[in-house]
Amino acid sequence: MATISRIEWTEQTWNPTVGCTKISPGCKNCYAETMSRRLKAIGVHGYENGFRLTLMPERLAEPLERRKPTIYFVNSMSDLFHEKVPSEYIRRVFDVIKHAPQHTFQVLTKRAGRMAEFCRSAEVPANAWLGVSVENRKHGVPRIDVLRTVAARVRFLSVEPLLEDLGRIDLSGIHWVIVGGESGPKARPMRPDWVDNIKLQCDRAGVAFFFKQWGAWGVDGHKRSKKANGRKYRGKVWDAMPASVAEIA
Ligand code: SF4
Repeated sequence: MATISRIEWTEQTWNPTVGCTKISPGCKNCYAETMSRRLKAIGVHGYENGFRLTLMPERLAEPLERRKPTIYFVNSMSDLFHEKVPSEYIRRVFDVIKHAPQHTFQVLTKRAGRMAEFCRSAEVPANAWLGVSVENRKHGVPRIDVLRTVAARVRFLSVEPLLEDLGRIDLSGIHWVIVGGESGPKARPMRPDWVDNIKLQCDRAGVAFFFKQWGAWGVDGHKRSKKANGRKYRGKVWDAMPASVAEIA
């Protein structure tokens, strides 16, 4: 079932697959893994396999049934380009996106190579925003170059959890950058100067910047609740969306 999301940069989540496997350091404290295990424990339908990759074809039609223009985050509990998701199934997901032009779909992956390969032989619907996770220099930054090759109308980066200073990044062809620190009891800290570096580069490149959260570690380097640390960066909330959201939604 599609559900109203508490993720700050979207409206609803739609999970046509659930489950995943860890692929890089950003996955270490995966929220979807913890949540899947909890949902399995309390017997929620769809999570019978816990965090094991599972196709949910009965959910495919959900966005088609909703008329109100909505921003969907596709697979908050999985990765659509996971190696165990058949290409034919991804094609079906893209087909739903194409046939629901009233909505916007944000597809985020850590499997940038498979996404690019898939998109070479598939039409990317105009209402699909494609993005990659960028948690560090070694695993995350190279995904940006791969994303740039994808013919999506909006290409975005989810820099969360930001684990180190990313240094210089090439933002050409990128429309939106989301930055956030990690939350949860085992969260790793995010330093304000790492955020400054990204914000400065977004400003110079004219890229929309969205600051999602500090997470468990505050701007002062102290650990407390995510809520207490809040969403303000340099005294204000930064919640820019890509310019074309109004045209698409
Ligand atoms: S790719 Fe995403 S969903 Fe999959 S294990 Fe990593 S953080 Fe979790």
